[in-house]
Amino acid sequence: MKNDEGLDFALSRKTGHMVDVTMVARGLACDCVCAHCGALLQAKKGRKNRHHFAHYVAGRATGLCGGGRESALHAAARQLVAGWCTIELPALLVEEAGRRASIPGRVISIRSSELPDDMRGATYWGRDRVRPDVVMHAEGETIWAEILVTHAVGDSKRARLGRHAISTLEFDLAGMHREGSWTLATLEHALRTDVGIQRWAYHVEEARLRRQLREDSEASARPLTRMEVPWTGVAHDHEGEAPDPVLSGCAGSKAMDWAPLVFDPAMGLIPRDPAKRLAFIAQVYPEPTRYELSGAVAFLRRHPHGDGSCWVTIGGRSPGGRKSAYDAALSEFARSAGLHCVDFAIAGTREVRGPQCHEQLDRFFSALARSTAAEGLPASDL
Ligand SMILES: [Zn+2]
Repeated sequence: MKNDEGLDFALSRKTGHMVDVTMVARGLACDCVCAHCGALLQAKKGRKNRHHFAHYVAGRATGLCGGGRESALHAAARQLVAGWCTIELPALLVEEAGRRASIPGRVISIRSSELPDDMRGATYWGRDRVRPDVVMHAEGETIWAEILVTHAVGDSKRARLGRHAISTLEFDLAGMHREGSWTLATLEHALRTDVGIQRWAYHVEEARLRRQLREDSEASARPLTRMEVPWTGVAHDHEGEAPDPVLSGCAGSKAMDWAPLVFDPAMGLIPRDPAKRLAFIAQVYPEPTRYELSGAVAFLRRHPHGDGSCWVTIGGRSPGGRKSAYDAALSEFARSAGLHCVDFAIAGTREVRGPQCHEQLDRFFSALARSTAAEGLPASDL
């Protein structure tokens, strides 16, 4: 259908918000202007052509202004992202010196958002002339979003973003801006769910991960030591069948040694094999604290993001052990301590978040380990 001239989105003069053609009355009654040039628009909602907005200048329909489509899509996407109460941040995957590391994706709550050029102070222009498209304020962190409709964030902008040290998520709409037929609903769906258009333009953890991979690579140039995996004895999918405790040379392994890989929405690319997966996590993520319990062992890890959440794994030493009792005790403790527990991507592992999460859990498991060691039995309240 012919529609090279049309706009999918327009700026409503009534509300000051971007609207799509399904939301307005036909013709000039739509009361909209072009987000790029400010010209009056009419909503074309006829039978033949796809519905769209057309420029209307000096009493007649005119052609599309240069940049009109890009500006319309850009403004609509910014408005949508700025309206989100939660955002699913993608995993960060880093490759350096032939090695890979990742930081898992996660969902965060957005307390408030800003569209910086709407602000009088124009503070984000600053010294480095960086103005993010959307600023999202979450608990204890700020995320910037960049909406691209023509070209990607260049190296010089990336360097300027780095000076601000704020993780910046890029939505690349360049491939879709010519397609047309967008509504706010379909655009929102694409922004939220199309992982192909999201990437980190800058991530605060990337430099650290790269440095760590380089150091690991240099360390592995020395004679390899057999790396003991701290997950030994943890029950996983197959009860009683522990993962291979020793993976020879895994400290010096390249990504291909983990193959085949599968994509996990929370963790990025991880080995398909359960034993390799545990070893991979042990290598990539921070060392756990280990608690010896009666008939079981518990591991507590800080989340690699440093966002205050923790991972807890409780493994039974034998089938019919006290693992389920400890699981229940942990749930009970988390509830009373105001911590939030969710099952994680790995069998037997839970993600726990909340105030002083690691400290609280450490006290809980230390007390549990002491009481089971003293009595040779689990704590009396189990
Ligand atoms: Zn225009």
